[in-house]
Amino acid sequence: MTRLIVLGISGSIGSQTLDIIRRHKRKFVLCGFSVGERINCVDEILKEFKTISFVVVKNKSDKEKLEKIYPHIKFSYGDDGLLELIKQVECDLVVNALVGFVGFLPTICALENGRDLALANKESLVVGGNLVNQLLKKTNTKLYPIDSEHVALAKCLKGNKKAKKLVLTASGGSFRDLNRNELENVTVEDALKHPSWNMGQKITIDCATMMNKGFEIIEAYHLFNFPIDKIDVLLHDESKIHSLVEFEDGSFLADIGPADMRIPISHALFRNKRVKNTFASLPLDEFGTFHFRKFDPKRYPCVGYAKKAIAIGGTMPAVLNGANEEAVYAFLRKEIKFLSIEKIIEEVMERHEIVQNPTVQDLVDADKWAREEVRRLIKENNL
Ligand code: NDP
Ligand code: MG
Repeated sequence: MTRLIVLGISGSIGSQTLDIIRRHKRKFVLCGFSVGERINCVDEILKEFKTISFVVVKNKSDKEKLEKIYPHIKFSYGDDGLLELIKQVECDLVVNALVGFVGFLPTICALENGRDLALANKESLVVGGNLVNQLLKKTNTKLYPIDSEHVALAKCLKGNKKAKKLVLTASGGSFRDLNRNELENVTVEDALKHPSWNMGQKITIDCATMMNKGFEIIEAYHLFNFPIDKIDVLLHDESKIHSLVEFEDGSFLADIGPADMRIPISHALFRNKRVKNTFASLPLDEFGTFHFRKFDPKRYPCVGYAKKAIAIGGTMPAVLNGANEEAVYAFLRKEIKFLSIEKIIEEVMERHEIVQNPTVQDLVDADKWAREEVRRLIKENNL
């Protein structure tokens, strides 16, 4: 039995995690969870899982409302509530399916409190991958990635030495068939139409700008201790090859399978084990052809910004993340154009004075600074 806490259970990864838990009720005990503003799902989950003792929501008013309805459950709210949940509820594995920087401190808190982590929140590794790795060593805890590319790479690397290159596949996002001129006036609605995955809004925009792939390069760098210049990107339209490893002898291993996040989620929940799946399959003979395209770094400058942030190090990756997040939400609110997202990130990175070997507080400060800079740039319309 694995006792679980799921952070962000109302989201795309969170609800698919719940689906896996439901399919393996003898293996998992759900002890606590968090939602943000979508509190509608709380009732159903509490009725189904009598093992839950603690629930966190984003807003105080929702907490007050819910604790009147469920007096036997402990409720808390906000960023501190997430940390309380991790500290107070005994569990074996924390699933971090929060989106954005809000997931960073819960990641640190889980590891500091000796909890193993199944991590979808890639922003945690972008912001503080070095600190996370130090904590994993110090506290002897384990981190199981949920991102499909990294689960694919872990499967290909298992038992194999002498990897020459890691090759992250990328769908190219919603605008993959447009050139840069055609990106000038694209809309939020078009940006949210991902060709192969149904995900939360923020990561869908990150896919359209390809910042998501930049983040995944940083993620792979930290997870597999692999040099950035040996991590390549390959455009692959169908999203069925989830990533590849090229070995020194010239051969590749690829992880091929359905585009269904429940497969990598299961792999993480079962601590890097392959589990029988009864929900998705990929009949290759019916599938036909796989397509590949060369990745053009000029078409997608965000990948270059991510590589630059890692090369500079210190607080720069946190600034990359904070500036990206603030700019993406401004785009979603229709305050800026799509191409302004990357302009803003570049500009904010230029202005940042880095702190090397940052503490957790330095990273929190860098994130805050980056967001303020983005808001200032938008206000001055100085893009
Ligand atoms: P969603 O937007 O679908 O879900 C995010 C979750 O975080 C929701 O439960 C949301 O609550 C909660 N949340 C957001 N902001 C706050 C906050 N300030 N306080 C508390 N809770 C908050 O995102 P996804 O599931 O798509 O993505 C989650 C993470 O997984 C991201 O880091 C993403 O990059 C990564 N990932 C996602 C994939 C996917 O297929 N979706 C694939 C690979 C990685 P609510 O909605 O209730 O407000
Ligand atoms: Mg991914």
